[in-house]
Amino acid sequence: MRCPYCGHYDSKVIDSRSSDREGGSSIRRRRECKSCETRFTTYERIEKTSRMMVIKKDGTRVPLDPRKILSGIQAACGKRPVSEERKMEIVTEVEELIHREFEREIDSIEIGRHVARLLRETDQVAWIRYASEYQSFESIDQVQEAIQELKSTPPPVSGQNELFDTD
Ligand SMILES: [Zn+2]
Repeated sequence: MRCPYCGHYDSKVIDSRSSDREGGSSIRRRRECKSCETRFTTYERIEKTSRMMVIKKDGTRVPLDPRKILSGIQAACGKRPVSEERKMEIVTEVEELIHREFEREIDSIEIGRHVARLLRETDQVAWIRYASEYQSFESIDQVQEAIQELKSTPPPVSGQNELFDTD
């Protein structure tokens, strides 16, 4: 979504809610330009959202529900240091990608793959949890590679601070 003020191509979503203005349903998104940081509001028609169907593993079809994507991410993140904002950002990014690349339906596995990819860039532990839950690892090698990578990552700084706590 282009910034109406400076034309920058990228903005982040601060808040999303459905809205019944102008007769039809739409999604009202509050956005902030990543360049000039001006905030603006967009209204996106909801019909494209509700029309998208997700094909589950058992072959049944359910309407795409961003809240389900979010709850999967939240479960994987647990107490990991991933902000709510980043979680919402992943949902939005996946949603936008789905609507860009698919017209009417998408495999749930495909959604899982995209979420896993974005989580991988965000938090390794959350990514591994998510990918094992949704079986979106592409191969056993990838699992081993991931765990190896995790082992070689130094422990978080908060653990080290405890050594210096005097109370
Ligand atoms: Zn701007």
